[in-house]
Amino acid sequence: MLKTHMLATSAEGRPIHAYELENESPAILIVGGMHGDEPQSAFVADRIVELLQTRIGDMMHEHLIVVPQLNPDGLERGSRKNSREVDINRNFPTANWSQNEPDDAYYGGPSAGSEPETQLILELIRRHGPRRILTVHCIDGERQCVNFDGPAEALARAMAKENGYEVRSDIGHATPGSLGTWAGYERQIPTVTLELPADETDEKCWQDNRDAVMSFIQAAIE
Ligand SMILES: [Zn+2]
Repeated sequence: MLKTHMLATSAEGRPIHAYELENESPAILIVGGMHGDEPQSAFVADRIVELLQTRIGDMMHEHLIVVPQLNPDGLERGSRKNSREVDINRNFPTANWSQNEPDDAYYGGPSAGSEPETQLILELIRRHGPRRILTVHCIDGERQCVNFDGPAEALARAMAKENGYEVRSDIGHATPGSLGTWAGYERQIPTVTLELPADETDEKCWQDNRDAVMSFIQAAIE
């Protein structure tokens, strides 16, 4: 049975939901729609929720928590940042958190962890201690890849076998304040950042990644 939780509301009052397939086993956390100008990431995460509804028999033993649209205000306006102009993926309280200027595309916020979207992910991680995390994004310039932080290389390779993307331990630039840095690098929770091709359609991204997502969920890797 898939449960729906209303975790928080965005600054503009839109609800942010999590869908949970409850189980005794340690949780797997999946996050999409963190950047509002990466709609494919929310689409793919929404499809994951549907998959959980339809394939529930196969996944009876999994404990899954999916937040498909973390940044509903940004998704509504098609902008990377939330409505307070903060880049959520630069707002996590990492050791190397840096603020940047408010008009910067990578503005880290008034303080580390200041945003409701960031706080709800931190709270989910504190409460559930997930054994692995998948965060779905998009990247342009045919740089789609499976990026990993922390002890997640084998997991990333299992996914790449299905989607054919390159496996990368970094994305080519520093990401202070990112979920990957906070959870994967600093806390050693295996964390994969799936970077979908920004110029592909929603449906193509899903078709190309359906099996990769299944392998992320079901891979027997610890
Ligand atoms: Zn992104």
